Amino acid sequence: MTAVRLVILGRQGSGKGTQAARLVEAYDTVHISTGDMLRAAVGAETELGLQARAVMDAGELVGDDLINSIVAERLAQDDVAEHGFLLDGYPRTPDQAAALEGILAEAGTPMDAAMNLDVPVDEVTVRMMARGRADDTAEAIRRRLDLYESETAPLLAWFADRGLLEVVDGLGAEDDVFIRLTLAIDRRLSVGDAS
Ligand code: AMP
Repeated sequence: MTAVRLVILGRQGSGKGTQAARLVEAYDTVHISTGDMLRAAVGAETELGLQARAVMDAGELVGDDLINSIVAERLAQDDVAEHGFLLDGYPRTPDQAAALEGILAEAGTPMDAAMNLDVPVDEVTVRMMARGRADDTAEAIRRRLDLYESETAPLLAWFADRGLLEVVDGLGAEDDVFIRLTLAIDRRLSVGDAS
C-alpha cells in the first residue's frame, strides 16, 4: 500500500483523537498529534514543555514558529517518508497551513486529503466537560472553541479551495463515524490512483 498523507480537522471534543488512532492502524501510517507531542514535552519537563505549559493550560495556541518547526522536524523522519502521516491538531492557523504546504511542496509529497470531522459546538462542549482532562477547565474549553472558530475554521475554506476537503459527519456511534471516514479517504485514494 502506498503511503497516505492526511490531515484530520475537527473541534476539540469531536472524537478526532480516537478516530485518528483507528485510522493510523487501518492505513499503517504515522500519527502526528501536536497536542500529544506538547503534552509529552510538558510531562518530561523539557524546555519546550516548560514554555508550552502555561499557554496550553489557558487554552491558547502555542506560537506558529515553534509549532511549525516541531512539525517540520517530525515530517522529515524516515517513518514518515515510508508510511506517510495523519496530522491531528495541525495545522490550526492560516500560517501553519501555509507552512505545511511549503514543507510538502519542498519534499515533493502532496497531501491526499483533509478530513473535517464535523460535530456541532453544543455537542463537543458536553463531551469535553465529561472527559475531565487536566487542561479542560470551563474557561479553557470556551477559549479553545473560540480559537477554533476564529483561527482554524477558516482553514476549511483553504483546504476546499485546493480541492482537498472532505467533510464527515462526526455524530453517532464511533464505528459508524470510522466507516464514514474510511469511505471518504478510500474515495480520495482511488481518485489519486486513477490520475
Ligand atoms: P489538542 O490536544 O490538539 O487539543 O492540543 C492541546 C493544546 O496544545 C492546545 O490547546 C494548544 O495549546 C496546543 N496545541 C496543539 N496543537 C497546536 C497547534 N497546531 N498550534 C498551536 N497550539 C497547539
